[in-house]
Amino acid sequence: MSVLIDSHCHLDLPAFEGDRNAVLSRARQAGVTAVVVPAIGRDNWDAVIALSKATAPVAIGAALGLHPCFAHQEGDLDALAARLQCEANLVALGECGLDAVAGVATMPTQLAMCEAQLQLARQHHLPVILHVRKAHNEMLTLLSRIPLPEGGVVHGFSGSLQQAEQYWRRGFRLGVGGVITYERANKTRQAVARMPAEALLLETDSPDMPLSGHQGQRNEPARVRQVLETLAALRQQPESELATQLTLNAQGLFPRLPIHPPLT
Ligand SMILES: [Zn+2]
Repeated sequence: MSVLIDSHCHLDLPAFEGDRNAVLSRARQAGVTAVVVPAIGRDNWDAVIALSKATAPVAIGAALGLHPCFAHQEGDLDALAARLQCEANLVALGECGLDAVAGVATMPTQLAMCEAQLQLARQHHLPVILHVRKAHNEMLTLLSRIPLPEGGVVHGFSGSLQQAEQYWRRGFRLGVGGVITYERANKTRQAVARMPAEALLLETDSPDMPLSGHQGQRNEPARVRQVLETLAALRQQPESELATQLTLNAQGLFPRLPIHPPLT
Protein backbone atom coordinates (compact mmCIF):
# COMPACT_ATOMS: atom_id res chain seq x y z
CA MET A 1 0.00 0.00 0.00
CA SER A 2 1.32 3.44 -0.86
CA VAL A 3 2.41 5.80 1.90
CA LEU A 4 0.35 8.97 2.42
CA ILE A 5 0.75 12.21 4.38
CA ASP A 6 -2.21 14.23 5.67
CA SER A 7 -0.80 17.74 5.27
CA HIS A 8 -3.54 19.44 7.29
CA CYS A 9 -5.56 18.15 10.24
CA HIS A 10 -6.53 19.63 13.60
CA LEU A 11 -5.86 16.65 15.81
CA ASP A 12 -5.42 18.77 18.93
CA LEU A 13 -9.09 19.84 18.95
CA PRO A 14 -11.54 18.55 21.58
CA ALA A 15 -13.30 16.50 18.88
CA PHE A 16 -10.42 14.01 19.19
CA GLU A 17 -10.06 14.11 22.96
CA GLY A 18 -11.54 10.70 23.70
CA ASP A 19 -10.00 8.53 20.99
CA ARG A 20 -7.03 10.32 19.43
CA ASN A 21 -4.83 7.23 19.44
CA ALA A 22 -7.51 5.07 17.83
CA VAL A 23 -7.91 7.75 15.13
CA LEU A 24 -4.16 7.71 14.52
CA SER A 25 -4.06 3.91 14.42
CA ARG A 26 -6.78 3.91 11.76
CA ALA A 27 -4.74 6.50 9.82
CA ARG A 28 -1.69 4.27 10.06
CA GLN A 29 -3.70 1.29 8.81
CA ALA A 30 -4.77 3.41 5.85
CA GLY A 31 -1.09 3.99 5.03
CA VAL A 32 -0.73 7.45 6.60
CA THR A 33 2.74 7.76 8.10
CA ALA A 34 2.77 11.47 8.99
CA VAL A 35 0.36 14.35 9.56
CA VAL A 36 0.79 18.11 9.89
CA VAL A 37 -1.18 19.82 12.66
CA PRO A 38 -1.49 23.60 12.20
CA ALA A 39 -2.51 25.90 15.05
CA ILE A 40 -5.41 28.34 15.00
CA GLY A 41 -4.30 30.74 17.71
CA ARG A 42 -2.20 31.38 20.79
CA ASP A 43 -4.54 29.30 22.98
CA ASN A 44 -3.74 26.04 21.16
CA TRP A 45 0.00 26.47 20.49
CA ASP A 46 0.96 24.43 23.55
CA ALA A 47 -1.43 21.62 22.63
CA VAL A 48 -0.13 21.43 19.05
CA ILE A 49 3.50 21.33 20.21
CA ALA A 50 2.77 18.73 22.90
CA LEU A 51 1.06 16.54 20.30
CA SER A 52 4.08 16.72 17.99
CA LYS A 53 6.29 15.48 20.82
CA ALA A 54 4.03 12.63 21.97
CA THR A 55 4.58 9.04 20.97
CA ALA A 56 1.95 8.18 18.36
CA PRO A 57 1.33 5.61 15.60
CA VAL A 58 2.10 8.31 12.98
CA ALA A 59 4.67 11.13 12.93
CA ILE A 60 3.15 14.51 13.81
CA GLY A 61 4.54 17.85 12.65
CA ALA A 62 3.46 21.10 14.34
CA ALA A 63 2.86 24.54 12.82
CA LEU A 64 2.16 27.73 14.80
CA GLY A 65 0.14 30.66 13.53
CA LEU A 66 -2.88 32.95 13.92
CA HIS A 67 -5.92 31.84 11.85
CA PRO A 68 -8.08 34.63 10.36
CA CYS A 69 -11.34 33.07 11.57
CA PHE A 70 -10.45 33.32 15.26
CA ALA A 71 -10.15 36.39 17.47
CA HIS A 72 -6.63 37.38 18.48
CA GLN A 73 -5.39 39.76 21.16
CA GLU A 74 -2.91 42.54 20.83
CA GLY A 75 0.43 41.03 21.60
CA ASP A 76 -0.29 37.67 19.94
CA LEU A 77 1.96 38.52 16.99
CA ASP A 78 4.83 39.36 19.34
CA ALA A 79 4.15 36.13 21.23
CA LEU A 80 4.28 34.21 17.94
CA ALA A 81 7.60 35.84 17.05
CA ALA A 82 8.95 34.84 20.48
CA ARG A 83 7.72 31.23 20.13
CA LEU A 84 9.31 30.87 16.70
CA GLN A 85 12.62 31.85 18.27
CA CYS A 86 12.55 29.04 20.80
CA GLU A 87 10.69 26.16 19.06
CA ALA A 88 13.27 24.31 17.00
CA ASN A 89 11.16 21.60 15.36
CA LEU A 90 8.24 23.42 13.80
CA VAL A 91 7.47 22.21 10.29
CA ALA A 92 5.72 25.40 9.13
CA LEU A 93 4.11 28.69 10.08
CA GLY A 94 0.31 28.46 10.05
CA GLU A 95 -2.31 28.57 9.61
CA CYS A 96 -2.66 32.20 8.64
CA GLY A 97 -4.52 33.83 5.80
CA LEU A 98 -7.50 35.79 4.56
CA ASP A 99 -11.18 34.91 4.85
CA ALA A 100 -13.73 37.24 3.31
CA VAL A 101 -16.63 35.05 4.52
CA ALA A 102 -15.87 34.11 8.12
CA GLY A 103 -12.84 36.25 8.98
CA VAL A 104 -13.16 37.88 12.39
CA ALA A 105 -11.36 41.15 11.56
CA THR A 106 -11.83 43.59 8.68
CA MET A 107 -9.93 42.78 5.48
CA PRO A 108 -7.29 45.51 6.05
CA THR A 109 -6.60 44.09 9.54
CA GLN A 110 -6.49 40.53 8.18
CA LEU A 111 -4.04 41.66 5.50
CA ALA A 112 -1.78 43.26 8.09
CA MET A 113 -1.87 40.16 10.33
CA CYS A 114 -1.17 37.88 7.39
CA GLU A 115 1.66 40.04 6.07
CA ALA A 116 3.33 40.11 9.48
CA GLN A 117 3.18 36.29 9.62
CA LEU A 118 4.59 35.92 6.10
CA GLN A 119 7.50 38.11 7.19
CA LEU A 120 8.04 35.88 10.23
CA ALA A 121 8.02 32.78 8.02
CA ARG A 122 10.62 34.39 5.78
CA GLN A 123 12.78 35.32 8.71
CA HIS A 124 12.63 31.80 10.19
CA HIS A 125 12.95 29.97 6.84
CA LEU A 126 9.62 28.21 7.30
CA PRO A 127 7.03 27.26 4.69
CA VAL A 128 3.56 28.78 5.22
CA ILE A 129 0.17 27.10 5.56
CA LEU A 130 -2.43 29.47 4.14
CA HIS A 131 -6.18 29.60 4.65
CA VAL A 132 -7.80 31.57 1.81
CA ARG A 133 -11.52 31.97 1.28
CA LYS A 134 -13.00 34.34 -1.31
CA ALA A 135 -9.81 36.40 -1.13
CA HIS A 136 -7.53 34.86 -3.77
CA ASN A 137 -6.81 38.17 -5.52
CA GLU A 138 -5.80 39.86 -2.28
CA MET A 139 -3.61 36.90 -1.31
CA LEU A 140 -1.94 36.64 -4.72
CA THR A 141 -1.12 40.36 -4.58
CA LEU A 142 0.35 39.92 -1.11
CA LEU A 143 2.45 36.93 -2.22
CA SER A 144 3.78 38.92 -5.19
CA ARG A 145 5.01 41.57 -2.80
CA ILE A 146 6.54 39.14 -0.29
CA PRO A 147 8.43 36.35 -2.02
CA LEU A 148 8.80 33.30 0.22
CA PRO A 149 11.76 31.08 -0.67
CA GLU A 150 10.42 28.14 1.39
CA GLY A 151 7.04 28.37 -0.34
CA GLY A 152 3.88 27.05 1.23
CA VAL A 153 0.47 25.56 0.64
CA VAL A 154 -2.98 27.02 0.06
CA HIS A 155 -4.80 24.51 2.18
CA GLY A 156 -8.25 23.19 1.27
CA PHE A 157 -7.89 24.83 -2.12
CA SER A 158 -11.12 25.83 -3.76
CA GLY A 159 -10.81 27.89 -6.91
CA SER A 160 -10.14 27.98 -10.63
CA LEU A 161 -7.30 26.51 -12.68
CA GLN A 162 -6.05 30.05 -13.34
CA GLN A 163 -5.88 30.80 -9.61
CA ALA A 164 -4.14 27.49 -8.95
CA GLU A 165 -1.55 28.30 -11.61
CA GLN A 166 -0.92 31.72 -10.11
CA TYR A 167 -0.18 30.18 -6.69
CA TRP A 168 2.05 27.53 -8.22
CA ARG A 169 4.02 30.25 -10.04
CA ARG A 170 4.64 31.93 -6.70
CA GLY A 171 6.00 28.70 -5.23
CA PHE A 172 2.79 27.62 -3.50
CA ARG A 173 1.22 24.20 -3.65
CA LEU A 174 -2.50 23.45 -3.43
CA GLY A 175 -3.90 21.39 -0.57
CA VAL A 176 -6.49 18.97 -1.97
CA GLY A 177 -9.15 17.78 0.45
CA GLY A 178 -12.73 16.53 0.72
CA VAL A 179 -14.07 19.35 -1.47
CA ILE A 180 -13.19 17.35 -4.59
CA THR A 181 -15.40 14.43 -3.55
CA TYR A 182 -18.46 16.62 -4.27
CA GLU A 183 -19.59 16.71 -7.89
CA ARG A 184 -20.82 20.28 -7.49
CA ALA A 185 -17.22 21.43 -6.89
CA ASN A 186 -16.71 21.30 -10.63
CA LYS A 187 -14.32 24.25 -10.97
CA THR A 188 -11.98 22.98 -8.23
CA ARG A 189 -12.14 19.40 -9.55
CA GLN A 190 -11.11 20.58 -13.00
CA ALA A 191 -8.32 22.71 -11.57
CA VAL A 192 -6.73 19.88 -9.54
CA ALA A 193 -7.18 17.47 -12.45
CA ARG A 194 -5.18 19.72 -14.76
CA MET A 195 -2.44 21.01 -12.48
CA PRO A 196 0.91 19.21 -12.50
CA ALA A 197 0.95 16.55 -9.76
CA GLU A 198 4.05 18.27 -8.31
CA ALA A 199 1.81 21.19 -7.30
CA LEU A 200 -0.57 19.19 -5.09
CA LEU A 201 -0.71 17.95 -1.48
CA LEU A 202 -3.30 15.72 0.18
CA GLU A 203 -5.18 16.81 3.29
CA THR A 204 -8.34 16.17 5.27
CA ASP A 205 -8.71 19.31 7.47
CA SER A 206 -10.12 16.93 10.11
CA PRO A 207 -12.39 17.16 12.04
CA ASP A 208 -13.93 19.49 9.41
CA MET A 209 -14.60 19.09 5.68
CA PRO A 210 -16.36 15.70 5.70
CA LEU A 211 -16.17 13.81 2.42
CA SER A 212 -19.18 13.23 0.21
CA GLY A 213 -21.14 10.35 1.76
CA HIS A 214 -19.91 11.25 5.25
CA GLN A 215 -21.73 14.55 5.76
CA GLY A 216 -22.43 15.35 9.40
CA GLN A 217 -19.64 13.02 10.60
CA ARG A 218 -16.32 13.90 12.14
CA ASN A 219 -13.61 13.75 9.50
CA GLU A 220 -10.32 11.95 10.26
CA PRO A 221 -6.86 11.50 8.69
CA ALA A 222 -7.52 7.91 7.48
CA ARG A 223 -9.93 9.40 4.92
CA VAL A 224 -7.04 11.03 3.10
CA ARG A 225 -6.93 7.74 1.17
CA GLN A 226 -10.40 8.44 -0.25
CA VAL A 227 -9.25 11.91 -1.29
CA LEU A 228 -6.36 10.23 -3.13
CA GLU A 229 -8.76 7.78 -4.83
CA THR A 230 -10.99 10.63 -6.02
CA LEU A 231 -8.02 12.69 -7.20
CA ALA A 232 -6.53 9.73 -9.10
CA ALA A 233 -9.89 9.13 -10.81
CA LEU A 234 -10.25 12.82 -11.77
CA ARG A 235 -6.72 12.86 -13.15
CA GLN A 236 -7.05 9.42 -14.77
CA GLN A 237 -3.73 8.54 -13.22
CA PRO A 238 -2.73 5.34 -11.39
CA GLU A 239 -3.27 5.74 -7.64
CA SER A 240 0.11 4.40 -6.53
CA GLU A 241 2.04 6.61 -8.94
CA LEU A 242 0.10 9.69 -7.80
CA ALA A 243 0.52 8.76 -4.11
CA THR A 244 4.29 8.50 -4.51
CA GLN A 245 4.44 11.99 -6.04
CA LEU A 246 2.13 13.55 -3.43
CA THR A 247 4.16 12.12 -0.56
CA LEU A 248 7.34 13.47 -2.13
CA ASN A 249 5.66 16.87 -2.44
CA ALA A 250 4.75 16.95 1.26
CA GLN A 251 8.24 15.87 2.28
CA GLY A 252 9.72 18.51 -0.02
CA LEU A 253 7.57 21.31 1.38
CA PHE A 254 7.96 20.21 5.03
CA PRO A 255 11.55 18.95 5.23
CA ARG A 256 11.37 18.92 9.04
CA LEU A 257 8.38 16.58 9.12
CA PRO A 258 9.50 13.29 10.67
CA ILE A 259 8.48 10.28 8.62
CA HIS A 260 7.60 6.97 10.24
CA PRO A 261 8.45 3.88 8.21
CA PRO A 262 5.44 2.56 6.32
CA LEU A 263 3.48 -0.50 7.43
CA THR A 264 4.62 -3.65 5.72
ZN1 LIG B 1 -7.26 24.31 9.14
